[in-house]
Amino acid sequence: MSSIWHPFTQHGLEEPIPVVERGNGAILYTADGREVIDGISSWWVTTHGHGNPRIAAAIAEQAKKLDQVIFAGWTHEPAEVVAAGLRDIMPDALTRVFFSDSGSTSVEVALKMALGYWRRHNPARQQIVVMEHSYHGDTIGAMSVGARGVFNRAYEPLLFDVVTVPFPHAGAEQGTLDALTAACRNHAAAFIVEPLVLGAGGMLFYPPDVLAEMAEICARHGVLFIADEVMTGWGRTGALLACEQAGVVPDVLCLSKGLTGGAIPLAVTMAQEAIYEAHYSTDRADMFFHSSSYTANPIACAAAAANLSIWREEPVRGRIAALGEKQQERLDRLAAALPIRNVRRCGTIAAFDVPGEDGYLANAAPRLMAYFRENDVLLRPLGNTVYVMPPYCITDAQLDRVYAVIEAGVRSLG
Ligand SMILES: *Cc1c(COP(=O)(O)O)cnc(C)c1O
Repeated sequence: MSSIWHPFTQHGLEEPIPVVERGNGAILYTADGREVIDGISSWWVTTHGHGNPRIAAAIAEQAKKLDQVIFAGWTHEPAEVVAAGLRDIMPDALTRVFFSDSGSTSVEVALKMALGYWRRHNPARQQIVVMEHSYHGDTIGAMSVGARGVFNRAYEPLLFDVVTVPFPHAGAEQGTLDALTAACRNHAAAFIVEPLVLGAGGMLFYPPDVLAEMAEICARHGVLFIADEVMTGWGRTGALLACEQAGVVPDVLCLSKGLTGGAIPLAVTMAQEAIYEAHYSTDRADMFFHSSSYTANPIACAAAAANLSIWREEPVRGRIAALGEKQQERLDRLAAALPIRNVRRCGTIAAFDVPGEDGYLANAAPRLMAYFRENDVLLRPLGNTVYVMPPYCITDAQLDRVYAVIEAGVRSLG
């Protein structure tokens, strides 16, 4: 019996837990000899596939050279290479790169940067504005700016107050924009949002023009616009950043998941110069008070540097476009064969809803998840929403297999 307590796992229902021994491309190999197709990029992180040789080599080399060093007051080459690479590939106005370890911490850092900025310029601005159904991570601050529900009910007393604008459902966009305008007028500090796709909230999509208008409203009122691209970044929505599709440059940008190609934890929060400047002085009390032991760990940075090289040197954008088209073909066929709803795609992300009751704990999810697992496909529906978000290297045959299992699985619901 293992003593491990797994995340987002109900041990009373989900035993036994499969042991994964090896990974290659889109395949995970289990200890009992199964080959499982990773249809969700191991929870949205694995962009170029498992065991990418360039990333693996970079990690091995760096581990021999410098494994870890304090990052307060010290620096190292892999971090400098990542920072320079990010400056090259990301929007010009994002001049500063702050490292941390996970998507959640990149969000915490973004919120602290926003408050630090306003401490200098207008301390009355403290309110954070968020979008309904958002997810920004599982630490207390990240939960505070995310949707409230069954997954954080027990911790409500610890969560701080935010102003929530409604999700811009098709036809109701103006309501969102009006609510955001009202919130911005009321001394808001920052608006944090997942651009184009709300991931954990159920793969909810909204169009680039709404994103552009939201950014415009924030700019008009001097409210900092924080783009949480932890999931949408690194090509997921078809462009390097989802914001790119709307011509939006955020004041603060959160990146993690695909930053290292999904091989090892690392995150960055990128900020415009004015936010850095608000912390720049000769007074120690003004510095940015955030650190963790492993900030900018050299091995993780080496993996991120390799990821950046892959983006520079390999046809990643072409792979993403091709995967998007392949997903669309299979999604169309599925929609013709099954009574599914809200069939949708954004870049490499395909999603649809199965009929039935709504909500994260809806019945369909655990039944489908079990079916998919029995059939060697790793998918993890969100309530009634089934989605496919594979590594960019998935083969046609593997994708066919994923969709065949989805079709049979949905039929098995009866
Ligand atoms: C996954 C996710 C996070 C949290 O990232 P972790 O690395 O799991 O802490 C934050 N924001 C978004 C949009 C995410 O999808």
